[in-house]
Amino acid sequence: SSNRCSVIIVGAGISGISAAKVLAQNGVEDILILEASDSVGGRIKKHNFGNISVELGAGWIAGVGGKEPNPVWELAAQSGLRTCFSDYSNARYNIYDRSGEIFPSGVAGDTYKKAVESAIEKLRTDQDSLLAADVSDVPKLSTIPKTPIELAIDFILHDFEMAEVEPISTYVDFGEREFLVADERGYEYLLYKMAEEFLFTSDGKILDNRLKLNTVVRELQHSRDGVTVRTEDGCVYEANYVILSVSIGVLQSPLISFIPHLPRWKTEAIKKCEVMVYTKIFLKFPKKFWPCGPEKEFFIYAHEQRGYYTFWQHMENAYPGSNILVVTLTNGESKRVESQSDQETLREAMEVLRNMFGPDIPEASEILVPRWWNNRFQCGSYSNYPIYANPQMVENIKAPVGRIFFTGEHTSERFSGYVHGGYLAGIDTGEALLEMEKLDREKNNNKSILS
Ligand code: FAD
Repeated sequence: SSNRCSVIIVGAGISGISAAKVLAQNGVEDILILEASDSVGGRIKKHNFGNISVELGAGWIAGVGGKEPNPVWELAAQSGLRTCFSDYSNARYNIYDRSGEIFPSGVAGDTYKKAVESAIEKLRTDQDSLLAADVSDVPKLSTIPKTPIELAIDFILHDFEMAEVEPISTYVDFGEREFLVADERGYEYLLYKMAEEFLFTSDGKILDNRLKLNTVVRELQHSRDGVTVRTEDGCVYEANYVILSVSIGVLQSPLISFIPHLPRWKTEAIKKCEVMVYTKIFLKFPKKFWPCGPEKEFFIYAHEQRGYYTFWQHMENAYPGSNILVVTLTNGESKRVESQSDQETLREAMEVLRNMFGPDIPEASEILVPRWWNNRFQCGSYSNYPIYANPQMVENIKAPVGRIFFTGEHTSERFSGYVHGGYLAGIDTGEALLEMEKLDREKNNNKSILS
């Protein structure tokens, strides 16, 4: 059929684009990229808000300054992306209570130290309980966070940092520095620069007809000979191979059906991977009322409900005079806020800010609440493997099924959850496909089935 091509890539996020680039570089140009949303980038997404460009998804290049170069940092350097050094380790010294008092740094430091110790203890206990035949042999934990400051620190430790508890490959390999992307063209400019190398682009837009936006894949029917792809708008495409780059949340959802069904080892692994929800809420003000000196970029609100508008950041370092605050929610709080009106969320956030900074602060003039959980093309923010996850689990999530290859941030053994994880996974998958194509070709007496 005229709709048949060598490889169909489902999803135009960083992993899909990097996989496509590897194929193109190796002479496989007969590709088709199907993207459900109206733009490329996926979880890398800028939005115009309060006269600047804010990042609704990935905002930092994490892991810079170490022994190995972070490939995303290199891409950023090559494309001249504007970034800003960012250090949230000081956040713990800017913890406000409900009456607007800042906890003394000694108290905050001690609470932090205790939280790290108990997290290390918990890791050991979890590890022991995995090994122990009888769970009752495992000692019970001594400390459970209870007070608002303990809960606030537990939240930043577990939902943001963890680097002091266990080695995180991103920091071990690439270094511990983090840079905030502060570029009007957005983090997504990196994808555009990559696409430029193999797709037809003009005036900052990808105009190549091998990229189809607003095209939702609903069914993959696969056999030994190829894959038939059906989309929501009723189109049918055929390919020798498919690379599926949709998120772990989408794989867990019923959006895409597989004919025949995926094998059990695959579906079980997909089901077990935890989906993290991470929400950055942006608030624009007529003027600044928060401190802006050195080490004040991040601040924390201690409340009796864990994760209740806990983690705050001002944007003055990246965009002076922007008068924008960002508050980050995760998991349960993210889902709660996604399901209520933005007006209600604004009211809650303003109440928290008045507790911290007094009753006279101005009302925010604009609010932006991204909804990653309720977006059916995302179903969450990123994968979160249990710390002692069996390495077989990511292996199974990544392994191809027949002619369907799986890629994306969640298929990266070392860097899942990050932009560089998605980027490297795409390269890996592209190379694995080329390898399989070579073997298939040898089986078919050297007649290339690509092109
Ligand atoms: P995606 O970008 O999700 O690409 C998959 C694409 O598939 C999407 O475009 C989607 O629309 C499309 N799709 C889905 N279903 C279908 C379908 N049925 N048919 C066709 N197309 C479909 N990482 C960092 O390194 N630093 C950070 O600071 C950071 N912060 C983050 C903050 C937030 C709020 C979020 C959400 C993520 C953050 N991340 C961060 C993680 C990072 O954004 C991701 O790891 C990375 O962008 C994932 O890329 P991907 O290609 O695997 O997936």
